[in-house]
Amino acid sequence: MPLYGAVEAGGTKFMVAVGEEAGAEPNAVRRIETSSDAAATLREVITFFLDHGPVAAVGVATFGPVDFRKGTISTTPKEGWAHFPLRDILQRELRVPVGFDTDVNGAALAEARLGSGRGAQSLVYVTVGTGIGGGAIIAGKPVHGLLHPEMGHLPVRLHPEEPAGFMGVCPYHGNCLEGSASGPAIEARWGKPAVQLPPGHPAWMIEAGYLAQACLSISLILSPERIVLGGGVMDQPHLLGMVRARLAELNRGYIPLPELSAPGLKYPGLTGAFVLAEEALQ
Ligand code: ADP
Ligand code: ZN
Repeated sequence: MPLYGAVEAGGTKFMVAVGEEAGAEPNAVRRIETSSDAAATLREVITFFLDHGPVAAVGVATFGPVDFRKGTISTTPKEGWAHFPLRDILQRELRVPVGFDTDVNGAALAEARLGSGRGAQSLVYVTVGTGIGGGAIIAGKPVHGLLHPEMGHLPVRLHPEEPAGFMGVCPYHGNCLEGSASGPAIEARWGKPAVQLPPGHPAWMIEAGYLAQACLSISLILSPERIVLGGGVMDQPHLLGMVRARLAELNRGYIPLPELSAPGLKYPGLTGAFVLAEEALQ
């Protein structure tokens, strides 16, 4: 049985793991801090794989934006990481195939193969956390285009109950989806972290309104069988049902709506990296 290496690369931490099969309990997992010295961070990743390997292939599910042609994180403001050749260094140092995709495309792939959308040929994974990002699987394959989907920055209509003067927090677009509905947007709007807002707070109707708009746009453009909503903000158990209800209202019966669900996997991104590793070997 070959051993696979998985990397979920985030702006705060890299989760790395080795295991025999995507979806099975990994043999070893480590958290590595994302330092501004990208080469040093990657050196730690490589050392982990050498210590726990040999691995036959590696999968990387990374924060973006990603340049698939070059195997880099392209224009990130994250210090030390813009245009860093993540994929090629791993390939060169480990001498194994490296599968490379965005964190959310990886999570979507894992949820479609092994998670709450098991068996789906079309699925979108949206994470609602510090940022908002979306990955898409269509006909069983992650969607790549000129870049890759950046659903977090979809434009949304202003919610009628948006407090006056709130302009959104996206540095590029102000009140795009991420600017209006990410964890930091909720905190900026209400002056306290989302986790401290009780279920009856007006914050949640507004949040559900924006997420439902995004789900409708996603459904109109891609028509996936399922949309999986993950990320820290979705840890509010009442929120998913509110989004579902609002989505039905906005749709007015026009299109068949996808199933909306929570992730079925504990670590969708890391599991996605294992799937990418398996595919890289084939
Ligand atoms: P990241 O996006 O950085 O990978 P998370 O998905 O955990 O990390 O998202 C972090 C964001 O989610 C923060 O803005 C935080 O305020 C918010 N958050 C975390 N836990 C909860 C919770 N239980 N309820 C609401 N918001 C939460
Ligand atoms: Zn934006």
